Order: sequence, then C-alpha cells, then structure tokens
Amino acid sequence: MAPRTSRTVRTPGPATDITADAAPAATTAPASERGPVPLQEKLADRDGFVAVVELVPWRGVLDDPGGKRARIMATALATDPRVDALSVTDNAGGHPMASPEVLGRELLTAGSEVIVHVACRDRNRNEIASLGWRLASAGFRNVLCLSGDYPVEGYAGLARPVFDIDSVALLTMYSDLAAGRWPGEGSKGGHGASEVPSRPQFYLGAVVNNHKLLEAEVMTQYFKLAMKARAGAGFTISQVGYDARKDDELLKWMRGAGIDLPVLANAYLLTRGAARAFHSGRIPGCTVTDELLAVVEREGASPDKGKAYFIELAAKQAAIAKGLGYRGIYIGGAMSHEDVTRILDTAASYAPDDWRAFAREVQYAIPREFHYFEKDRATGLSSETVSRTYLRSKKRAARPPHVLRSPVAYTVNRMVHSTVFEPGTPGFQLAGRLHERAEGLHLGKALHVIEQAVKAPLYDCRDCGDCSLPDIAYLCPESQCAKNQRNGPCGGTHLGECEVPGKQCIWVRAYDRLKPWGEADAMLDRPPALTDNALRRTSAWASAFTGRDHIGKRIAAEQAARDEAGDPKGDAAEGRAG
Ligand code: SF4
Repeated sequence: MAPRTSRTVRTPGPATDITADAAPAATTAPASERGPVPLQEKLADRDGFVAVVELVPWRGVLDDPGGKRARIMATALATDPRVDALSVTDNAGGHPMASPEVLGRELLTAGSEVIVHVACRDRNRNEIASLGWRLASAGFRNVLCLSGDYPVEGYAGLARPVFDIDSVALLTMYSDLAAGRWPGEGSKGGHGASEVPSRPQFYLGAVVNNHKLLEAEVMTQYFKLAMKARAGAGFTISQVGYDARKDDELLKWMRGAGIDLPVLANAYLLTRGAARAFHSGRIPGCTVTDELLAVVEREGASPDKGKAYFIELAAKQAAIAKGLGYRGIYIGGAMSHEDVTRILDTAASYAPDDWRAFAREVQYAIPREFHYFEKDRATGLSSETVSRTYLRSKKRAARPPHVLRSPVAYTVNRMVHSTVFEPGTPGFQLAGRLHERAEGLHLGKALHVIEQAVKAPLYDCRDCGDCSLPDIAYLCPESQCAKNQRNGPCGGTHLGECEVPGKQCIWVRAYDRLKPWGEADAMLDRPPALTDNALRRTSAWASAFTGRDHIGKRIAAEQAARDEAGDPKGDAAEGRAG
C-alpha cells in the first residue's frame, strides 16, 4: 500500500497572480457577473456532484465547418446550468487537432469553467512551461496533466513524439511554477531553486486507470496516482471502463492510502464503432470486454443503433458514481448537446437507491481481472478486505531464497548496484574516488566507452547520462518504454502489453521483478525523476559519482532540507519513521 498522502484543497484564487504583493480585487460584482463557480470550489463540496463534459477539437481552424459545429455545441453546453465544466482534449488518441486553447478561449468567453488538457507528447519541458504561462494569462485555471497517447499519424509520416517529461513531472513543474520555483542548472542556487515572479495558480488534475487485467498493471496505476497526488494533483479522473466493482475499488484504495482527492468517474457514451475500437485494444486505456461488446452489438442492431441503450448506460454510470461517492461524472464520447441533456436528465430521474441495482448490472470485468479487494457478496461491489489471493501471492513470492524466483541477471544487477552504485555505501565512495582519479588521468572518455560496452548489450542503454535503471528494476525507459515513462506506467497498457504493441510494459516487468523481494509496494515511494538533458552522451557512472544525475540531485535536495531544518543527519526524520 502506498504511504498515506493527504492533499489539502487550495483556496481558489485568480488564474495568475503576477505580482507577489498585488492587492486582492474587491468582489463587488453580482454572482452572475463574477463568472462561473471555479471547479475547485465545486469539487470541494463533499455533498455536491458535478457534471463535466469532454470536447474533442476538430482538425482545422475556428471558422471551418468542424470548428463552427464545435463552437455551437460548446456554447450550448457552456450556458447549460447542469454542466459544471467543459474539458478540452489535447491531440487525443495521438491525432493532430486544433489546439485545445482555441476552443478553450471560446468557452471562457461564453462563461464556462474549462479544464484544458496538457499532454507531454508533442512538446518539451520549456514549451510546457511557456504553455503554462500562456494558459494562465488567458484565464484558464484548470489543467489536466497527461503524458499523452503515442502518436498514430502525422504530416507526411508518423510524428516523432517528445516525452521530454511525463505527467508526474508535469504536475511537479506546474506546482513549482505556482510556488514561484524554477529549479535547475543556471539558476542562482545551482541545484537549488530560483524565484520566478509569475505564479500561475492552476487547479491540477490527473488521470488514473484501474480497469486493467493484471495485478502489476492495477497496482502500479495506484502507486502512480499516489505519486501524482504528492506532485500536486488536486483532482483525478478515472479512465473508460464499465465495471462498478472496479470503480468502487478505486475509491476504497484511495481512502486506505490516505489520498483525499475528489474523483470524477468516466462515463463514455458508447457507439457500436467506439465499442469495437475499445474492444480491439487499439484505443489506449479504454476497456470494453467481450461480454459488453456482445451487448453493444445486440443493442446496436436496433433501429436507433443502440442510442437509447447507450444513453441509459451512461446515465446509470452517473448514478453509480454518485452512489459510490465520486464527486462527479466526466462524460465523453461523440455526442450532441441533446445527448448530454438526455444523459443528465435520465440520471436525475432515478430514485436515490437505484444505483445499487445498476452497480450489480454494470460489471463488465475482464475475465480473471485482478481485484485488490475481496468481493462484497451483499452488494456485488468491493469489500474492505484485501484480496486473500493477492496477499497469499505476496507471501509466496517473498519466501526466501528470492534468488530462485528472480532472473539471474536481475539478481546480479542488484548485487552490483548495492555494492558500487548505492550512494553512501563504502563501495560507492571507493568507486567515486577511483573514478575521480581516472578522470584526473584523462581516462574519463575511456571509462565512458567501457561503460557503454557493458550497458548497451545488457540494457539496450541509449547513453542518456541520467540513469533510471535503479528506479525501474534495471529496465531502461529510453529504449524499452515508448513514452520514456520514468515515474510509473502510462494508462495505455493492454493486458500487460505496451500501448505501442510488441512488448510487455516495462512497469509490469519491474513490478514482477520487485515483488519477490518485497519491494513492489514501495516502487514509486520516491520523488519524481526528471532527467537532465545536459547529461546526454555523457557517462552515467560519472553522473552518479559526482551527484549530477537526478538521484544525486534528489539526495542533495534532501540534505539541504535537513540542513535547513537543523537536522543534518536526518535523526528527527528517522525518529519519526521509527
Ligand atoms: S512501456 Fe508501459 S509505460 Fe511505457 S509507453 Fe508502453 S505501456 Fe506506457
């Protein structure tokens, strides 16, 4: 189980506070003129239930027919009092579309509360920072932070993705910007933080996807959610799936882990075509099982092509979400304003307890899907009892000697790392001194060649110079993760396979490697890894010994925090831990 993580909701403020000592504006305007109630405020109301509708931009400019259609629908939704916010996607599915800012600005003008998606796929960290300032300047206050789906097309060929940082690092960056921090080389304090005057106060969102087959997929999603909460997420949205027991499990797992974030439940308005695509596994992170597809095919053959059934299914999902304790519903899919109205009206027409029957009905789990909790026979949902099969498997896996259940190469890696590369150990200090001496003799380049001769065949190392092998059970994210995810898996795994077909997800493999050593649960109990591209094509061994890599910077930052607290050896922290 992840460590207890508690998030306090920030006080709603202006989108951008560009001067630290600016006086707060007097709010004398009537409520109708002050604009929409901020999403953050609505989600802070534990008795409330919000409706958010997702809009997918078109391909082209605002005055194109696609743009005009989107604007008409968006304006209708923006003025519908039942809709609390509109959420605009950022090249969803890896398809190039109009920027979410374009439609987002129209929605802001129409008086809507807007969630703008920011994905890391198409831009590096500097462009993401610029975008943050641009969004804040335009008045956006809610940002959904995503790694983004892998590109599937592009102008005159497939686009090359960026993935300079991932969703966790993006949350960290926007949280830092909100605090006026700009850490990094070139700043006044070296590895420390420099102050930046502009402090965009975004309400940051994250996505979680527990509709997965394998224990390794589900648990790593939960661990990553905990990391996202620590990195600054203020709310979360679940991914497309049609299993009420799993929806219930997510909230119960979060409660057990002490993650107090409002969650919006996904209710995707299906069509026959969408269901087939989700079922095929071609759309990352969206699950439709054989059983549900059979229902969809049957209903889809009706004269209305299943529309009434799909509307009702989404309405039932909204009712279930409310009953389970979700703070709102997130409606997605290709739909009209009328469809949204029908979903919300149908959901509102149900009796308060109807959701219990719906929750028994909407349980399209993947056959043999992992569940963290035992089933509650009375409700058909999750109990509070952790799965006995899961606990038994942990016990079995942890029985020594671990070496028998681990790949030999992995066991050797662990030994070498703990002997030579674990900061603070005598081996690390000795190796560091030897390395320093070799550098003094101008042998640094030769050592780098030797390093590559070892690491390229062993790990398919890409010489990034800021090594994450110890973070991911000695699997290289540069060569083996299509999105270079260094802080947990993206939501795109399908039956344990990578979103980009052809291999297993490295985080699934890492979980399986760590479980026998009893280390899987804590695999993401660490600060986010942000790589430094200045180290590319330099020796990662040298980076480690000189503390230039992300692990060295993390240790230095922790030491600086201890020094500032007057506890240089961390005795107080150790005392607390004990
Ligand atoms: S290896 Fe895993 S984390 Fe990386 S892109 Fe594939 S599914 Fe996502």
